[in-house]
Amino acid sequence: MKLLENQIKAHGQVLGENILKVDSFLTHQVDPTLMREIAKRFAEIYDKAGITKIVTIEASGIAPALYTAEMLGLPMVFAKKSKNVTMNDAVLSTEVFSFTKQVSSRVSISRKFISKNDKILIIDDFLANGQAALGLLQLIEQAQAEVAGIGIVIEKSFQAGRQLLLDKGIKLTSLARIEKFEKGQVLFAVADDAEFDEK
Ligand code: 5GP
Repeated sequence: MKLLENQIKAHGQVLGENILKVDSFLTHQVDPTLMREIAKRFAEIYDKAGITKIVTIEASGIAPALYTAEMLGLPMVFAKKSKNVTMNDAVLSTEVFSFTKQVSSRVSISRKFISKNDKILIIDDFLANGQAALGLLQLIEQAQAEVAGIGIVIEKSFQAGRQLLLDKGIKLTSLARIEKFEKGQVLFAVADDAEFDEK
């Protein structure tokens, strides 16, 4: 998605070997105009897929997931990283290793929010080694629901996540794909939605 690539070029900061900081429009401050365009793109691709629910993981997946849910007229549910006292229903639960925090944490979704009749689109802000996506897949599997695809805002294609998900036969739609970082600059691979930019 060209608009997203342009935002990354203009405002993204490369940190070290493999981290992109996009806190001015995605992971801390959030740009609603961009979120709407991201949501439109996911909706264009998935609106005929029979999706019943959007699922993400807190915190930075929530903004793109919620806009996508609104665009498709569906509910959005996010996996919580800590169980609180109000979460007293039966839960779907698994461990996820966090790429940015370098620790494992338990993530949970109340069972009542995903059922075996659901067809789910997973949305997340980043794809690195695929651990967050894998965790969400496990939760959805516990509910015996179906996964229609995974929509990623920014994929770092030089890390292991993409291949991991493709090997599982999952449809993956990354709106920006980063081939590599070179001298602090971001070099892009062809995004999964590139054909939609031509229109
Ligand atoms: P994975 O589980 O695929 O290894 O990493 C994905 C998760 O880690 C995302 O949900 C995102 O929160 C975080 N993440 C991974 N890489 C980056 C990055 O380069 N920048 C930022 N801001 N977050 C990242």
